[in-house]
Formats: sequence, structure tokens, C-alpha cells
Amino acid sequence: PPRRPAAPRPGPGLPNGIAMPALNRGARAADVLVVGAGFAGAVMAEQIAARGGRRVLVVDRRPHVAGNAHDHLDAAGLLIHRYGPHIFHTNSTAVADYLSRFTAWRPYEHRVLARARRAADGHDIDVPMPINRSTLNALYGLSLASDAEAAAYLASVAEPISPVRTSEDVVVASVGRDLYERFFRGYTRKQWGLDPSSLDKSVAARVPARSDTDDRYFTDTFQAMPRDGYTAMFERMLDHPAITVETGVDYRDVVADEVFDHTVFTGAIDEFFGHRFGPLPYRSLEFRHVTLDQERFQPVGTVNYPDEAVPFTRITEYKYLTGQSHPKTSLTYEYPRAAGDPYYPIPRPENQALFKQYEALARARHDVSFVGRLATYRYYNMDQVVGQALASAKALLARWDAAPRA
Ligand code: FAD
Ligand code: UDP
Repeated sequence: PPRRPAAPRPGPGLPNGIAMPALNRGARAADVLVVGAGFAGAVMAEQIAARGGRRVLVVDRRPHVAGNAHDHLDAAGLLIHRYGPHIFHTNSTAVADYLSRFTAWRPYEHRVLARARRAADGHDIDVPMPINRSTLNALYGLSLASDAEAAAYLASVAEPISPVRTSEDVVVASVGRDLYERFFRGYTRKQWGLDPSSLDKSVAARVPARSDTDDRYFTDTFQAMPRDGYTAMFERMLDHPAITVETGVDYRDVVADEVFDHTVFTGAIDEFFGHRFGPLPYRSLEFRHVTLDQERFQPVGTVNYPDEAVPFTRITEYKYLTGQSHPKTSLTYEYPRAAGDPYYPIPRPENQALFKQYEALARARHDVSFVGRLATYRYYNMDQVVGQALASAKALLARWDAAPRA
């Protein structure tokens, strides 16, 4: 049937997150609904509008676009990330090329120090993380002079473990128990509320030790920050005549009064299905944003605090990430929480089994594409979400090409 003519758009949702009343909304002139304006939703919307020729309505229940990558100027005028530090890195030229259509870049290689107790005197010192040759020398008063010597040292302290299944296994098998306890056990117990022995190995394997002195947090071929910030990049991605964005609007309020040809859902998959099999566990964080009346606070972008007695996991100073010059400096402290916004899927076998039940329901829903970190319950970085969304959009467009609209 012909769609209703376009009504004047009601404008964005209210900034306090309250959805516009349904009455106000009038007829929606969109073919496809995209739920979530994060990386998954924005890439899907852009591809569906620009390549699929469909009209897209993007809704997000938060009062802004860019999902967890949202950045904004704080009261002091410093660019900060509302949901914790986001550093872009990828080995995929396709992903970097795609995003480069919507932003220029500022080259940036993230560096992290971890506060640990020096073996000789128990003093706190800040050493490179991931563990590298400099970390070993500083912590144990060694003078390992080459990569080969550092590798031999690590091999001498590593414990044989087979099979390697957990995050404890993967660290102890590569750097031994002392380094594991200094850097990984406390941090992981705080961050996840679980002992590393009950978390999948993939979690701690994100931060592998090195025997060289490379002190960058990531080794990807492309490492850079969007020059004008993430939010500006998202605004360009969504700036298409066939895309309408409504923030402060929940999915449920939209589907109550409008039917779409297709839906892209990037929120939590268990929520979509009404928690039918029980809630999927997600880990949350509380962010404490602080501005100090001084130019610098710490020597690198992020300092990790693996000590379990310290209630936060890390402090990030944004100036390093953004390159901004300012007489003040803004920081974010991250406090892990059991309840709150779902930020991290928790990789462990029983959670994966529960996800598989929801995934089976998702597969049967040909009218809905599930994309992104929450909808596919995967601990994905931004570039992985972009890659996943590009692949999902391609598959959807191919399906439409094969069965064109009546
Ligand atoms: P999201 O960004 O979560 O977007 C989903 C959106 O859907 C949200 O905005 C949400 O409000 C909306 N939504 C959900 N349900 C509904 C509903 N019912 N109705 C309306 N809207 C809804 N990755 C990196 O590559 N580098 C990093 O340095 C990095 N640091 C991170 C630090 C932290 C603290 C966290 C939590 C994540 C970090 N990530 C990082 C991962 C990155 O945030 C994700 O990969 C990426 O943001 C996921 O995009 P997404 O679109 O899948 O999800
Ligand atoms: N990790 C740790 N100590 C550190 C850094 C990381 O134990 O100093 C472990 C911890 O379990 C953490 C995981 O490695 O959750 C992945 O770290 P990453 O920095 O990639 O986490 P993210 O930035 O995604 O929060």
C-alpha cells in the first residue's frame, strides 16, 4: 500500500530523555526503523539510505547520537567522552576508508601506565601496560637488554597450562603468577566482578605481554582520533536527506504506532525479546568526570589501577586523546558496577549459551537485523562493530535486490 505522505517532523525528543508523546508524532515517512544511533545504527542507516535508497528513521533513547562513543564539550570547554575513553584503532583498511568519508583524523597512539608495587621496596610505580621489557626492568630491578633476554625471562616465569580456557590461564601461561597477580587479578575482579578464572580467555588476551619496549596500548596499523570528535563524525554520517534522527525516543514508543518494512535493532537482544529466557548479564560502569584547574594531571592518556583496594579501574586524561590545548584538564574515573547501562557483554560459557537461545529467536525474525555490541552480545571494539554493520548492510541490500519491493 502507498505510504502516508510525509508529515512535518516533530523535531528531536526532549533532552531529558522523555519520549515525545505518540500523538505528536504524526505519520512517519520511513521505510526502515533503526534503533540506536551508535556505530552499528549509524552505519546501517547510512548504508540503507545511501545505497539501499530507503527512507530511514533512526531513534535513540539517549538525548544524543554516537552511542557510547558520544563526546561533547564539558563546562570548562574541554572535549570529553561521556561514556569513558574511546580510542579508535583498526587493522581494517575497509573500515578506516569508510569512516574517513565522514571525518578527518588526528594521528594518536594511546599509551597506558599501570600503578604497581615495585618488588624490591613495595613502592608504587607507574610502568608500561601491556607488560613489556621496560615494565619488567622497572618492576624487578632487572636489566634485560634485548627482546631475546626479555622473552627468555618471561618464558622462565610462565607456567605451562593446557588447555588455556580462562583469563587466568592465558595470563599465567604467558607471564607467570607474580605478574598476573600484580596487574591482572585485581583489575579483572574489579572490572567484571568475577575472578579471571571464571572469565573467557579472550578478555585478558586483549592485552598480551611483549618482550620489546613498544609502549603503545594498541599495535594496529591505523590509530587515530576523529579530528572534530566522534559526535561530529556521526552527525556527518547521519546527514542524508533520506535519514531522520529522533533522540530521546525509545523503540517501544515508535513501534506502538508505526509499522516499518524492516527494523535494525542495536540495543540489548534480551530486552528486545522481553527477557524471555532471563536477563543476559552485562557489566556496567559509573563515570566520574572531573575538571582540574591545572594543565596536566598524569604523564599519559590512561593510568590503570590494578590494586583491588582502589575502587576505580583507570583514570583517563582527555587532552592526550584530543590534542586540545587548555589551561584546565578533564579526567574520567571508571567505577565498575553490576547495575546500570549495559556496557560490556560478559564473555563466559554460560552467558554465551544463554545468548545462543536469544540468537535462535533473532534468526527467525527476517524483518529485523540485529547488529552491534549489545544485539550480538560480543565484546567488540568500534572498528569491529563498523565491520559487522557494513557486512550486515551488504547482506540486507543483496536480499532486497533479489526480491525488490512490489
Ligand atoms: P552503542 O554505542 O551502545 O549504541 C547502541 C545505542 O542503542 C545506544 O545509544 C542506546 O541508547 C540505543 N538503544 C538501545 N536500546 C534502545 C531502545 N530500546 N530504544 C532506543 N534506543 C536504544 N572501542 C574501541 O574501539 N576503542 C576504545 O577505546 C573503546 N573504549 C571503550 C570504553 C568503554 C568504557 C566502553 C563501554 C566501550 C568502549 N569501546 C571501545 C567499545 C565501543 O563503545 C563499542 O564497540 C561501540 O560503541 C558499540 O557500538 P554499538 O552501536 O554496537 O552500541
Ligand atoms: N586487564 C587487566 N589489567 C590491565 C588491563 C587490562 O587485568 O591493566 C584485563 C581486564 O580484565 C580488562 C581486560 O584485560 O577488562 C581488557 O582490557 P581493555 O583495556 O581492553 O578493556 P576495555 O578498554 O575494553 O575496558
